[in-house]
Amino acid sequence: MRFMDEYRDAGAAREYAAALARTVTRPWTLMEVCGGQTHAIVKFGIDTLLPEGVTLLHGPGCPVCVTPLEVIDRAIAIAEMPGVILCSFGDMLRVPGSHQDLLSVKAGGGDVRIVYSPLDAVKLARENPEREVVFFGVGFETTAPANAMAVYQAAREGVANFSMLASHVLVPPAIEALLASPTCRIQAFLAAGHVCTVMGYTEYEPLARKHQVPIVVTGFEPLDVLQGVLMCVRQLEEGRAEVENQYARSVRREGNAPARELMREVFEIVPRKWRGVGEIPRSGLGLRAAYRAHDAEHRFGVAATEVAEPEECISGLVLQGLKTPHECPAFGTRCTPEKPLGATMVSSEGACAAYHRYRRQPAAARGGGS
Ligand code: SF4
Repeated sequence: MRFMDEYRDAGAAREYAAALARTVTRPWTLMEVCGGQTHAIVKFGIDTLLPEGVTLLHGPGCPVCVTPLEVIDRAIAIAEMPGVILCSFGDMLRVPGSHQDLLSVKAGGGDVRIVYSPLDAVKLARENPEREVVFFGVGFETTAPANAMAVYQAAREGVANFSMLASHVLVPPAIEALLASPTCRIQAFLAAGHVCTVMGYTEYEPLARKHQVPIVVTGFEPLDVLQGVLMCVRQLEEGRAEVENQYARSVRREGNAPARELMREVFEIVPRKWRGVGEIPRSGLGLRAAYRAHDAEHRFGVAATEVAEPEECISGLVLQGLKTPHECPAFGTRCTPEKPLGATMVSSEGACAAYHRYRRQPAAARGGGS
């Protein structure tokens, strides 16, 4: 616990805030890409420590939130098939599809199970050879290596009744898409430390150069975020646009080579639709043809269905940093974590859920600052 306390020290946080106040000469708008960082920012009130004019926008870095509705519908359709055991991580089970969620399928008699690792799903397949075991695999570059390992092992051991419904997304193409938008007002990014633990940060270097935006690889504790913000603001004030690494205790420039190798073996880059954002070219990972036997989409032939996003949910705008959860009329009334309308309220990493848990009222109503 002492190790964690070092990164939550209130005195050190005040020193970073003071250093920021001394550095800032004009307003700057930054985006933290990762939902884990959003959660830390709202939980610890990090944004309230920033000097006036330094604004943090919350980005699309919550994997559950950006999983398209039609993919959730596909998972539900598979889970309803006889003889299927559908496994996923807990948050995914509560995300509403067009008409219901996976927990409702479970309540209706479907065999839907929470697992803590994709390898648990492979084990389940080994133990239940007469059943079809499907792992619903979503996530960023962080979870992709473990998911790749599950498919690789199933293929190597001939576990023919294991398959994966894969909906992985990649961060750098999303940053590129945000920067290319005419409504973009982001001047620097805090890149997600855990993604870079796997991928390194060489992919970010051409992005920083091309768009002239500082990108700072940042961790998840309060002091990590504050230091990341300070490093971004220093670059902005000095007219630099480089990739810097705040999270050097976990991240190396080249990332984790064996993990990336495994990802390359099992997955290929594909276009991917992001919920609320739309399709982004080369922003997803799908199973390579060599692993088609373990591709649930191919195996079960689940067709694309008509999707119906709730009209009043503005989570797409929240995910792009264009609105805050407080600006949604349904926030905290018709939409709560117990009865969510959109994915950003379901997932524990979602911006709406973070605001609902830690900050139910807008700053003005609380009489506070940012
Ligand atoms: S509060 Fe609910 S309805 Fe509103 S944007 Fe967030 S998830 Fe969507």
